[in-house]
Amino acid sequence: MIIRKYTKSSSFYLGTKAGFFERNESNLNESLKENELYSKQPKREMCKICSSRLPGDEDFQSHNVSYVFCTDCGHLNGVFEDTIEFVDKIYMEDSGAEYAKNYLDEDFLNRVSDIYAPKVDFLLSVVPDGNCEILDVGCGAGYFVLASLMENQQASGIDVSDVMVNFGNQQILSHQGCAPLQKVKEDGFFEEVTKTGADVVSAIGVIEHLRQPHKLFEAFKESKAKYLYYSVPMFSLSVVCENVFKNVFPRQLSGGHTHLFTEKSISRMHELLGVRPVGEWRFGTDFMDLYRHLNIYLRANNVSQKMLDYFHAGFATKIDDLQAALDKNHFCSEIHVVAVKD
Ligand SMILES: [Zn+2]
Repeated sequence: MIIRKYTKSSSFYLGTKAGFFERNESNLNESLKENELYSKQPKREMCKICSSRLPGDEDFQSHNVSYVFCTDCGHLNGVFEDTIEFVDKIYMEDSGAEYAKNYLDEDFLNRVSDIYAPKVDFLLSVVPDGNCEILDVGCGAGYFVLASLMENQQASGIDVSDVMVNFGNQQILSHQGCAPLQKVKEDGFFEEVTKTGADVVSAIGVIEHLRQPHKLFEAFKESKAKYLYYSVPMFSLSVVCENVFKNVFPRQLSGGHTHLFTEKSISRMHELLGVRPVGEWRFGTDFMDLYRHLNIYLRANNVSQKMLDYFHAGFATKIDDLQAALDKNHFCSEIHVVAVKD
């Protein structure tokens, strides 16, 4: 049996992501630069998930990069490799300071309680005794680890970024009196998973960023861990918006996201992992993205504040209801899955 959950409130995002409206142009230019770098990498010949040969005909272009759906597993692949040079450039430059700065805000505890505590709650609602030891891979600044500790779970985290790990440990030290995050090198990352004594390996927003996701799959299979708890970005309405509105920062498909999951490629990944899903939580930011795209175009058209206010009152206030329809139709920008070894 699979426990299915849908939707969550977007109010936190409406409040805290105001910068997405204000910083559109700089974010857009940054992602165009990242896409330009990505376009200079060698061609991706094989599907990122199932390793089948990708078809030659591209399905669409977005912000100067071509994408193709794998004919075998349905996974959406950017047509270039995310090489080590590319990954180094976008995540690890200045020990990740460039990447990390988006996340190092003063809102640490709010972010933990509003965004990460519900993720822990979902995990605990699915694992049988509601109690577990968690190894969080790609833990970043440790939001998920702190949320887990605050719910009295044993949790530790590993990440390749010095900046994030140090920042996170400082934060967690001040709230919980421990420093559970550890910086590891890319290879050490997979070793830690293999030898973990934790019963849950979590990878929240991580698998899509790995150059070699199969190394994580193998490490998890070899480990004693029973559950994998992950979230990944999906092909959804957000990508359609990004394809249509070219002057808006493409949050879903650019930069570090060079490929996206579909329902079919998720099933394939489960086969490769030797797991079956026991909990699936779908919620997207697609209508939030649509609102953002339309809003930015309206502003560029110099419409009045009055028009923007009418648009906000009539549309933005119903974003959660609108999104719920996509979530339930399994066409939303994100999925969280708790999967158990067979
Ligand atoms: Zn494939």
